[in-house]
Amino acid sequence: MFFKNVMVPYDESEHAMSALHIALGMVGDDPAAEVHVVMIVAAGAIPTPSLMGGAFEDPFDNGTMMDYDNMMGAVIQRMRSDMERVVEDARDGAQCKITVTARLATSPVEGIAEYVADNSVDLVVMGRRGLGALRGMLGSVSFGVLRSVDVPVLTVK
Ligand code: ATP
Ligand code: MG
Repeated sequence: MFFKNVMVPYDESEHAMSALHIALGMVGDDPAAEVHVVMIVAAGAIPTPSLMGGAFEDPFDNGTMMDYDNMMGAVIQRMRSDMERVVEDARDGAQCKITVTARLATSPVEGIAEYVADNSVDLVVMGRRGLGALRGMLGSVSFGVLRSVDVPVLTVK
């Protein structure tokens, strides 16, 4: 197969799941290929330490307080293990390598573009829409990625 490093930006939506199935259908038979499933945690989605007085409640264990770095670490770790489970269910016998990453970035678009550059990604397969409530042609993350990366982008329903 022509594509060896296929990235699936993943936001837990059905559209992103269908992108994962399509990516695995394309390169799943190639043991030399790698599918990179990547969730971007946008820094702006989480309050800054100064807003919270430096102390955060553990998002997965209410009542336990932790500092900002530990709280972010817990969020990233939890996303990774949730995704690992989902991805293994989706593998369905595929021979390719699959990696799962949760990454902190300024925005999903920036995080996806950085990941493409850092990992020699040669194809992005992503949902046309995501978790957003509005129904339309194209979500803002898909639109931003189409504008900001130079590799081919396949958008799926
Ligand atoms: P909007 O976010 O503009 O309200 P939306 O949620 O319907 O619209 P997008 O966010 O553009 O649409 O989602 C399109 C695709 O982008 C998703 O199917 C997924 O592949 C990817 N995506 C969206 N958010 C993230 C994220 N935080 N990390 C990784 N991939 C993402
Ligand atoms: Mg969205």
